[in-house]
Amino acid sequence: MSDNNHLTIALSKGRIFDETLPLLAAAGITPAEEPGSSRKLIIGTNLPNIRLVIVRATDVPTYVQYGAADFGIAGKDVLTEHGGDGLYQPLDLQIAKCRMMVAVQKGFDYTAASQPGRRLRVATKYPDIAAEHFAGKGVHVDIIKLYGSMELAPLVGLSDAIVDLVSTGGTLKANNLEAVEHIADISSRLVVNKAALKVKYALLQPIIDAFAGAVGAEA
Ligand code: ATP
Ligand code: MG
Repeated sequence: MSDNNHLTIALSKGRIFDETLPLLAAAGITPAEEPGSSRKLIIGTNLPNIRLVIVRATDVPTYVQYGAADFGIAGKDVLTEHGGDGLYQPLDLQIAKCRMMVAVQKGFDYTAASQPGRRLRVATKYPDIAAEHFAGKGVHVDIIKLYGSMELAPLVGLSDAIVDLVSTGGTLKANNLEAVEHIADISSRLVVNKAALKVKYALLQPIIDAFAGAVGAEA
């Protein structure tokens, strides 16, 4: 599959896969299977030279960076933590939208605890984003890296605050937490391997253009 007539697309299952389907359709690409019900990690499409690989959301930039996939779709949260090396990011696809927020237990005095010079314990899956945010405010932080269920950390005294993605706020509310600071608006972007864009330009550019048309953007 590594010759210049074939394309491999890296996607994560769940919301990114679901929200990417209409974009793929706009480019004339239909997956042969649904990754939710199939256990396959490599999925064919209606086009014999295009396949999908199903990877963890946080692994999409890595597959594309090393050229194991020619392009993929990843959240701005994941791309910021990854750093973006070797990736061309031509399009914000405006899918999987949410917000990166600071949240604390209800009743916790965040205003007092986040004054410059104070020290705050912050649990997060996003240590770089969190560190940069608090450095910008002059607040000293001890970052505690977690891989999931950040909401638990303040409830059991692991941290004072969390930095996490919020969409409806339902999970925060169910756990007696509240969002106290907005860090960034998040959506997913198209990421293309820089070398692939050159050697597979004839195959890739029409797909990028079709995605741009579908999201109403200029590529
Ligand atoms: P998992 O949930 O399987 O542990 P994950 O959290 O890495 O994996 P997803 O939940 O599918 O993967 O999230 C993929 C991307 O979707 C995230 O990187 C983020 O950009 C975006 N996202 C995450 N949570 C939400 C949400 N609640 N609403 C909208 N977009 C979200
Ligand atoms: Mg998730």
